[in-house]
Amino acid sequence: MRPAAALTFIFLSFCAATASGSPRENAVCVQNQLAALGHAPGPIDGIIGPQSFAAASNWLNTQDQSVRATFPKLSHQSAFRWCRQLGALQPGLATLWPSAVTQSWGDRLYVDEAGVQGTIKKLMMVSALTQAEEYFRESHQIELAATFDVLGAENASDLNRLIREWGARRNFRSTGLPQIADDRCGDDFSLGIAMRYLIALCWHPYDTEHPLGWSWWEQHLESFKLIAHEFVHMVQYDLSADYPLRRIGNDRQRVIGPKWMTEGTAEYFAQVIEADRVDEDLPGMFWLYLSAYGFDDPLRDLSDTRPWPNEAHYDVGHFAVRILADIYGPEPLLEYWINVGKTQSWDQAFRDTFGMDRADFETDFEAMRKDIGKVLIYKRQRAELLEIKAGQ
Ligand SMILES: [Zn+2]
Repeated sequence: MRPAAALTFIFLSFCAATASGSPRENAVCVQNQLAALGHAPGPIDGIIGPQSFAAASNWLNTQDQSVRATFPKLSHQSAFRWCRQLGALQPGLATLWPSAVTQSWGDRLYVDEAGVQGTIKKLMMVSALTQAEEYFRESHQIELAATFDVLGAENASDLNRLIREWGARRNFRSTGLPQIADDRCGDDFSLGIAMRYLIALCWHPYDTEHPLGWSWWEQHLESFKLIAHEFVHMVQYDLSADYPLRRIGNDRQRVIGPKWMTEGTAEYFAQVIEADRVDEDLPGMFWLYLSAYGFDDPLRDLSDTRPWPNEAHYDVGHFAVRILADIYGPEPLLEYWINVGKTQSWDQAFRDTFGMDRADFETDFEAMRKDIGKVLIYKRQRAELLEIKAGQ
């Protein structure tokens, strides 16, 4: 079975007073940055109190309206946005980002196995995370400001145990996640869950009879791609600077953008990172077309948080995103999330990024998904339109 990578956003309750986890690191980041800007926030304690708030207001008052408009009221919820934006505004302040002051990857990985197997898996995880990190740094000049931990296990009960231990260590209480692990984490299923401060991976058991044998390597590559995919979700969180996740209906899951875009973009970049690593070209558009063929759910129905009934929907999202990437290049796929953070609107962000309505693209896609010829015509038409616009 091919790997399924699910993106689940689960709110973690956070106890500010006692925590030493990442939300506190975000507040510490802002406090240090304000101090560096000469606006003393009181003790650097990771708690946004009246003194931090006053320091933030004082600094804001020294800024132009255009800058002021991009900073929300300082709170624990908005601390990450402040921390990231101040670092982007003054590169020196990026040295105070949680990612810049945190330990190495090796200290943030937790697997359920001891001995050689555990060590090999950790090495694999470090290699995948490092490659993804380098890809975004070198190809797109993107550094993550936030940090996160990565857990990996072979079955739901081990994964749940690791998550509980992680929650206790980081002072989080997580709800919802164990059920997801129970439902989907099994012998023949690889699963990735990206939350704000955590990537949790369920991979099927490695072939321990034949370490380094073929199936072992196959598993290894699958896990590599799964980690790269989840890393892209971390990039989405970071670029949108903790956009307040949308909750749809009574669904407990929340999303950061239209699901076909979040997942399609993650699949697209995971593929790019993988191709980079083995020095190969991306698979042709035709293969994506074939993978998506035969699934009829309209793209617009693949936007909200409902779990997808079929893994092939990842291919549908990937196909749609690949069309955008072929026309506009990969950069706008990342700009989109910056715009989601700026506009707080999926649709406005789409318009600002691609110069068309999301609904129109979703309609256009329906015509293309059953006729590869239409994809080529569409790409040419949009490219011509872009040239005309550029010439104006
Ligand atoms: Zn995903």
